[in-house]
Amino acid sequence: MTPTTGFATEPSVSVKDLRIAFGAHPVIDQLDLDIGRGEFLVLLGPSGCGKSTLLNAIAGLLDVADGEIWISGRNVTWAEPKDRGIGMVFQSYALYPRMSVRQNLSFGLRVAGLPKSEIAARVAKAAAMLQLEPLLERKPAELSGGQRQRVAIGRALVRQVEVFLFDEPLSNLDAKLRNELRIEIKKLHQQLGNTMVYVTHDQVEAMTLADRIAVMKGGVVQQIGPPQEIYRRPANRFVAGFIGSPG
Ligand code: ADP
Ligand code: MG
Repeated sequence: MTPTTGFATEPSVSVKDLRIAFGAHPVIDQLDLDIGRGEFLVLLGPSGCGKSTLLNAIAGLLDVADGEIWISGRNVTWAEPKDRGIGMVFQSYALYPRMSVRQNLSFGLRVAGLPKSEIAARVAKAAAMLQLEPLLERKPAELSGGQRQRVAIGRALVRQVEVFLFDEPLSNLDAKLRNELRIEIKKLHQQLGNTMVYVTHDQVEAMTLADRIAVMKGGVVQQIGPPQEIYRRPANRFVAGFIGSPG
């Protein structure tokens, strides 16, 4: 699904008139954003433009003073992160070092009180999708960087939620692993069909992953649209320069 304007169904994620300031300085400025069900939306922009702040606001990791966040048709502006129906993957794979991969994958589900059989089934499914089956009894210290980030993605996957949030999940990996995992994330999205909101400052990642790219600068979305459209018809000089459009 590659929505451009308007949505057949209600958006999966809606950010309405969001404003976030740290002190007097606004980091997100009256931002509106609708993300369609099943859409792969990339937030692209230079370091410091407010991508993580926006993602953290959607995740519920920041207090929102002005505006609203809606997820799957619910106003979650004041909901706890765990009640928002999201799974999140960060740049640094914050795995539990003393737990095995299997325990890392199941921990959140155990805390949530899911039945053992359900936990086992979800872990098995995620492990198969991410090629983690041979690694289930290992500890994070025994894994490569790419394998650890796979486990981090697995932890979001087992939650079986509609919306996944990624904050520069590949930026700590070397180029070869980055390419491999990028392809895997794309495949995962095609298999699961869920909504992905993916933050990066990497134009190639954005162009290859996105259904639509939202190009940000200074807490404001400069342009939003399919990669080809942004590349061919950049809305302003900043977008043209950042995307590397010809002319
Ligand atoms: P990005 O993810 O695009 O690199 P961030 O959302 O992390 O950008 O940051 C946007 C701006 O907000 C930056 O200028 C950053 O210094 C500032 N900022 C982010 N978090 C905080 C915070 N907790 N306190 C004060 N300033 C912050
Ligand atoms: Mg960031």
